Amino acid sequence: MHADLPISHDFSLASLNTFRIPARARHYLRVTGAAQLDAVRRDPLLAGLPRLVLGGGSNMLFTRDFDGIVLHMAGLGKEVLGERDGRVLVRAQAGENWHGFVQWTLAQGLGGLENLSLIPGTVGAAPIQNVGAYGTETKDVFHSLTAYDMASGEVRTLDAAACRFGYRDSIFKHAQGRELVVLDVTFALPVAWQPNLRYAELAKAVEEAGLAQPTPQEIGRIVEAIRRRKLPDPLDIGNAGSFFKNPVIPGEHCTRLLAEFPNLVHHTQPDGSEKLAAGWLIDQCGWKGRALGAAGVYPKQALVLVNLGGALGADVVRLARAIQADVKARYGVELEPEPVFI
Ligand SMILES: Cc1cc2nc3c(=O)[nH]c(=O)nc-3n(C[C@H](O)[C@H](O)[C@H](O)COP(=O)(O)OP(=O)(O)OC[C@H]3O[C@@H](n4cnc5c(N)ncnc54)[C@H](O)[C@@H]3O)c2cc1C
Repeated sequence: MHADLPISHDFSLASLNTFRIPARARHYLRVTGAAQLDAVRRDPLLAGLPRLVLGGGSNMLFTRDFDGIVLHMAGLGKEVLGERDGRVLVRAQAGENWHGFVQWTLAQGLGGLENLSLIPGTVGAAPIQNVGAYGTETKDVFHSLTAYDMASGEVRTLDAAACRFGYRDSIFKHAQGRELVVLDVTFALPVAWQPNLRYAELAKAVEEAGLAQPTPQEIGRIVEAIRRRKLPDPLDIGNAGSFFKNPVIPGEHCTRLLAEFPNLVHHTQPDGSEKLAAGWLIDQCGWKGRALGAAGVYPKQALVLVNLGGALGADVVRLARAIQADVKARYGVELEPEPVFI
């Protein structure tokens, strides 16, 4: 094994995932740049091991120990690159804390990321599932990223088209992107900033605060307040945020459901399909606040599964399966988990 790499063995991941599930990694390496990834790739022993790229562990569910090498992205640094075509380019290294980065941009007087305040995790992971909240997605403010290709050893630059962003989706979740490790991300923030208040709950909160012309910072603070009210802080209760994606179903299926369930929460998509609110479906099946063993459904938000204390990954999986079965039986809708199962 590569003598110069500070690799730890039989390493606990319990404090490195927000569900706080006890799991161990056979090998663990803190990665601060491409050189270490290159060394792993060239090492005959390490190169053959299963790999797991880890950021803040806020979108992961460990169902077992990881019998391979965990590459923990820890590179730090952020900079304003300058103005181009009416946008200010800002770049951050993959290991930067996402919310810290958002706050840093706001402190520079730059708007664009405020709706994404207080999302846990790292900058490098934001493009992976095209992180989104309150009507803004990563893709809306994304410029490009650099990634190390574990297959070829090249450092590649990818623009938004190459990342193939979708709803909680990108190339990195598919075969063509699985070997890419994000090193840094560049965002393009508008010089002529306008608030994005398309999300009704946010618009209402801004209005109630009496802000006729809110600043990006003010919106960021309001988003934080809403999120603190609705979502459990992983430091208090282990969780990975929304556990299921909002399902998208054909228009005809939605019409049939509406005949039986007139209150069904649905949003028509540009292609005529319908996006349903997974939290509403789970709530209607009576799961809000219920538990199965040490895993439970958060009482204030049915979309969030929580570790009530001492849960194993298997407990959370059992609860998730029970919820999926009930939603399928009642509505004929498949709920797809959002976190990555390891
Ligand atoms: C309380 C709470 C609220 C949340 N709210 C939201 C929300 O509003 N919107 C939302 O979209 N998500 C939300 N999430 C989910 C989570 O915060 C995001 O998915 C976040 O981007 C995950 O970042 P991370 O660094 O923790 O990634 P991890 O959980 O460590 O990794 C997630 C995935 O990304 C991969 N990955 C991580 N870093 C890299 C890298 N540098 N290169 C390549 N692959 C990488 C991992 O291999 C894994 O597949 C929430 C989570 C919690 C706990």
